[in-house]
Order: sequence, then C-alpha cells, then structure tokens
Amino acid sequence: MKYPSSQMDYRDSPLEAAFRQDVRAWLEEHLPAFKERQAKSGSSQERLSIAADWQHELFKGGYGALGWSDEYGGREANSIEKYLVVEESANLGAPWHLNMSITLGWCAPAIEVFGTAEQKAAHIRKMLEGKEIWCQMFSEPDAGSDLAALKTSAVRDGDNYILNGQKVWSSGAHWSEWGILLAKTSDEGKYRNLTFFIVDMNTPGIEVRPIKQMSGESDFCEIFFTDAVIPADCVVGTEGNGWTVAIATLLNERVALSAGAGAAVIAVQGLERLLELSKRLPYNGGVVADDSYFRQKIADIWIRAQANRLTAYRVLTAQFKGKTPGPEASVLKLSGDLWTQDLADLAAEMLGAKISAMSGSTLSEDDGNWSTGVLWNRALTIGGGTSEIQKNIIAERVLGLPKGK
Ligand SMILES: Cc1cc2nc3c(=O)[nH]c(=O)nc-3n(C[C@H](O)[C@H](O)[C@H](O)COP(=O)(O)OP(=O)(O)OC[C@H]3O[C@@H](n4cnc5c(N)ncnc54)[C@H](O)[C@@H]3O)c2cc1C
Repeated sequence: MKYPSSQMDYRDSPLEAAFRQDVRAWLEEHLPAFKERQAKSGSSQERLSIAADWQHELFKGGYGALGWSDEYGGREANSIEKYLVVEESANLGAPWHLNMSITLGWCAPAIEVFGTAEQKAAHIRKMLEGKEIWCQMFSEPDAGSDLAALKTSAVRDGDNYILNGQKVWSSGAHWSEWGILLAKTSDEGKYRNLTFFIVDMNTPGIEVRPIKQMSGESDFCEIFFTDAVIPADCVVGTEGNGWTVAIATLLNERVALSAGAGAAVIAVQGLERLLELSKRLPYNGGVVADDSYFRQKIADIWIRAQANRLTAYRVLTAQFKGKTPGPEASVLKLSGDLWTQDLADLAAEMLGAKISAMSGSTLSEDDGNWSTGVLWNRALTIGGGTSEIQKNIIAERVLGLPKGK
C-alpha cells in the first residue's frame, strides 16, 4: 500500500518543535531531584511513591492533566502535544510505576466515562494530582482470561452492598487507597450479572495479602472480602452493566500497557543498553558484537523494535484522535511483550553464567538489571490479557477467523 508522504513524516512541525523544546526544558529543570531519589530507591513501593510525587510535580507544572477538563485541573492539548510529553518524559527517564498507569490510564478514564458526578468530583482531580493510588480487582483464582466467570458477590442491603469472595494478582493493592472492583450482583446470565464498583481499600472486611514473587518483591496481592460493607453509591454505571465498563477499562489497560508511558522509547533505550553490552562483553578473544551469531540476533531484535515502534504510533494516533484502538493494541501487546522477553533472553545468552548474579552481587553486570528483566518479563505475556488471548482477538477481529471452541 502506498501512503501519502505526509502520513509517514514523523518530524516535528515548527510549532511541535517549539512545544517539545518547552517540555524538555521544563523536564530538565524539574526531573533531576526525582531521578536522584529514583536512583537510590530500593523497593517497588518507594518507586511508586516517587512516581506519584513526580505526577504531582507534572500536575503543578501544567503537564500532568493534558486533555482533562479544567474542573479537574487539566487543560486542553492536542494529540501530538500529549504524545510529546510522554515521549520526552520517557527519553529523559522520568519516574514511572505500574500503579500510576492503573490509576491514570484505566481507573480515571472509567470513572470519567461511566462514573457519577460525585464520583468524578471526589476522585479524578486527586488521581491526576498523584494523591490517590488505585488498584484493579478483577482477576480471581478461577477467573482470569475468562473474567466473566468470577464469583465474588456484592449483595444489595438497603443503601449498601455486602462483598464476599476473593480476588488475586491485584497489582499494588497493598499501597492503594482505592480500587476498582468487578463483582457478581445477580444470577442473571453471564455478562449481565456483573457490576463495576469503586472501593475504599480501608473498608473493614477487606484483607489484602501481598504475594511474594520469584524476584523477591511483592508487587501484587490476594484480596479477601468477608462481609465488607460498601455504600451503594460506589456503583460505576448501573447495576448489571459492569461488563460494559470492564471491557472499556480492559481496552484502556491494553493500550496503556502496550503503548503508554513512552513504551516505544523505553524499548529503544533497552536496545541501546543491549548494543552497549555487546560491545564491551568479552567473547571468543574479542567482544560479543564481533560474533556473527550474535550480530544476526541483534539485527533481528532491532528490526522488530522498529516494527513495534511504528505500531505504537498507530495505537497512539487512534487513541489521541478519540478512537478506540482495537486490534492494533493487541498486535502491539503481543509483539511488544515477546520482544521485551527476547531482549532480556538475548542479554542472558550473551552474559552466560553471569546472568544468575543479581543486583548487589560483585559478579553482576549492569547491577543485575538483565537478571531482574529475565525474571520479571515472564509476567508481561500474562498480565493485561495473555498472549494466547491477544492471538484469539487478532484471529477473530483482524483475520476474521471463526471463533475457537
Ligand atoms: C504482572 C501482573 C499484574 C497483574 N495485575 C493485575 C491487577 O492489577 N488486577 C487484576 O485483576 N489482575 C491482574 N493480573 C492478573 C491477570 O489479569 C491474569 O493473570 C490474566 O488475565 C490471566 O489469567 P490467569 O492468570 O487466571 O490465567 P488463565 O486464564 O487461567 O490462563 C492459563 C493459560 O491458559 C491460556 N488460556 C486461557 N483461556 C484461553 C483461551 N480462550 N484460548 C487460548 N488460551 C487460553 C492462557 O493464555 C494461559 O496460558 C496481573 C497479572 C500479572 C502477571
């Protein structure tokens, strides 16, 4: 297919270049203190606290709520401006944490589109200011990919609902003030029996238990609800219409995970670190980069990075134009997650036995970053919809293949 050249021109217009320069100057002035804190941060919780403080700084500087209405402290911005802030922030290594994406990327938009005026007034500004951290309580032990099979119940009792059941894999639930919850409110058929709630995580009867991961950290939790009472005005949308809200939220999640927070820039930075590693790591009397096998592998991963970057632009373009990115977000999530795993696995191949040396070990390379990557990146092809589920979506909605049985 031949595209008009204007669609393929990624250079900034003079106006965009001036905006980029302003953003960069502002970031260069405000980022160093946060990057210093970030460099010293040991735990994921500390990194979340820094990312939340950074969001507050962005908000005060007029860059934290672009495109949000001024009643939430936001301001108008066009799609390119929004992207330039994301890109420059990633370029300069601004703090980021998954729970900031959860809060701003999919909880805030769900409340904005489906919430009541009271819910919006109570929460959206605080979220944009980095003052409220949110988590997502969807998955259950027997309801992950098949989310609609969930069993946690919310039973109406006067002006309240009473919650009972169990959630699992809720990222950062132990650090969150609020969460979004999908629960069963009736015995109507699948999809019509679900309701979407916002929940104060300090409600009595909610017990949050962190899960220890193989990386040693505890980024996500099990949550147990035992007769937890929440007010009926915590329903988002209407009772029984939770599936519609959940699907919109999951779409936003896929976009935020695949293309958000400057993922394309971060991928390019990862690639540069790999190239740099290959040029200094001794191998067969030279360095890794001299070896034809590794050169082929590096070239392959570089080509895939460029394809992912261009797909990320398609996802962001659709999103910023107010369209819902559909299959392209699934394509990017599938290819981007596999790419990130392959990047760390290639580094592991280059490092040989050294990959087993974790952060803090004198034997580790790049302070064990690649080792952490190899372990942590396994989660990518599971969270936010597994690779198999993305493949199902692509098969059915892009290729038009019949639904699997
Ligand atoms: C890092 C991380 C963070 C997470 N954060 C959260 C969070 O904050 N909140 C939350 O609610 N959840 C969270 N999750 C959970 C995540 O949403 C689920 O793990 C995911 O939906 C998969 O569900 P499952 O683990 O139950 O696996 P299952 O659904 O049981 O899948 C098991 C295997 O079967 C395959 N499979 C299942 N169905 C099909 C099908 N129809 N066709 C083909 N293959 C299929 C899957 O691909 C997978 O390989 C997180 C997960 C991770 C890894």
